[in-house]
Amino acid sequence: MSPQKTKSNNSTILEVFEAQRITSTLWRDEPVQARIKRLEEIQKWILAHRLDIQKALFKDFKKPASEVDLTETYVVLTELKHTISHLRQWVKPIKVETPIALIGSQSSVRYEPKGVTLIISPWNFPLNLSIAPMVSAIAAGNTVILKPSELTPNCTKLLTSMVKEIFNPSEVAIFSGDKSVAQELLKLPFDHIFFTGSPTVGKIVMKSAAEHLSSVTLELGGKSPAIIDDTVDLKDAAEKVCWGKFMNCGQTCIAPDYILIDKSVQDEFLDELRLAIDRLFDSEGIGVENSPDYARIINDHHFDRLNNLLADALDLGATLEAGGLVNEQECYIAPTVMSDVPDGAEVLEHEIFGPILPILNFDELAEAVDYINSKPKPLALYLFSKSSDNRELVLAKTSSGSVAINDCVIQFMNPYLPFGGINSSGFGKSHGHQGFKAFSNMKSVLKQKIGLTSIKPVYPPYTAIAKNAIDLLLKYF
Ligand code: NAD
Repeated sequence: MSPQKTKSNNSTILEVFEAQRITSTLWRDEPVQARIKRLEEIQKWILAHRLDIQKALFKDFKKPASEVDLTETYVVLTELKHTISHLRQWVKPIKVETPIALIGSQSSVRYEPKGVTLIISPWNFPLNLSIAPMVSAIAAGNTVILKPSELTPNCTKLLTSMVKEIFNPSEVAIFSGDKSVAQELLKLPFDHIFFTGSPTVGKIVMKSAAEHLSSVTLELGGKSPAIIDDTVDLKDAAEKVCWGKFMNCGQTCIAPDYILIDKSVQDEFLDELRLAIDRLFDSEGIGVENSPDYARIINDHHFDRLNNLLADALDLGATLEAGGLVNEQECYIAPTVMSDVPDGAEVLEHEIFGPILPILNFDELAEAVDYINSKPKPLALYLFSKSSDNRELVLAKTSSGSVAINDCVIQFMNPYLPFGGINSSGFGKSHGHQGFKAFSNMKSVLKQKIGLTSIKPVYPPYTAIAKNAIDLLLKYF
């Protein structure tokens, strides 16, 4: 497919981009109510299409309907509700203080829309990770071009109808297709690019953005650890890890990638984890493979990748503690837990992004901290501990995009918390007010009275009086 011929509502990429440039200028001074109206249209559409969303994601990777409601529809509706109710406040200019040296002037910060924005989204939460950034972009007054993932065609079809029903392509447009479409889009001078996906593609996006000095938000991935010390309720920790890891079949950017556990409680934790897998994903005792509550791997490529990770670890001597069953035709991999995974196993080197959970252990908590600090900074870090000393140690000594203590994954669901990574797990923040700010230019405005400025005495020529004034400025102001 030639990207230039890619159609969005029968228009080419370039035509849409140019049309959006005009719209973005018109939208610059629109009343906030117009933005709220657009967000309400999206809200109405989502509420009216709850069942269609469930069906599309079931077709894409057998994602259970309740999981779709919780991790896609509910999250997007929360983002919409939160944004709609706070937007009037967020758009207000903010007065800031004035130093004595500039006395007489007044300063403020205004949030202005960046302009024409591009959102490139992944397949793992294809509705949530397409619409949530769109909510922030529209709230901030921008036009949007969305490029969803080619791996979830049923969700993309639904997103396409939503965009077509609510917007003109000169306002919000969608271009579906593979990476060639993204690459064509990335040639254009967008005012902001919001990319969610792998660190490898994140680098490509950033290089393209650099050509135009477009600003970027990169929501990337990596290996998010979960630390479990010897003070916790192991049943509770096992259940929370089980849900956070195996929901969406482990294909969650902030799922615990691996466990670091105090050696003294590892065996008990593993017993609890096996029980939790049965309770959550095989409550009827018919086998997880037959359970309606467990999704599938997205495609053959990812199935093979995960199957190879599993085989590599087992070949190198890892112990299978749970799961291990796979069904290639069904893209099924059971919730799988491994211990004794040796250094050098691929599963410890790369983001797993699937239902395989390696368990590593430590004698002293400091070893876990050192291990984490020897790797790229994670997107999320989980700590299960009743000890405030241990919690403070981990918070103070490690760096990650987010931390959840005694829980996992749900930090994503609080729109008051900035969401994002650090360095290789991404940069820039999203959700709620932070999402609005990501798509806004914080414009500094200083207003002076005509004919006045406190700085005039230090203008050239640098006479003795001017020099004295500069001396005073350095000394007192
Ligand atoms: P991906 O990087 O392969 O693809 C993401 C998007 O980029 C897709 O729309 C794809 O078509 C496009 N793309 C792929 N190759 C490209 C290229 N060469 N040039 C331009 N565009 C290209 O990621 P994925 O497999 O869809 O998603 C999995 C990754 O995303 C994991 O690493 C995961 O951790 C990460 N992720 C991060 C977050 C977050 O919020 N931080 C959320 C979900 C997923």
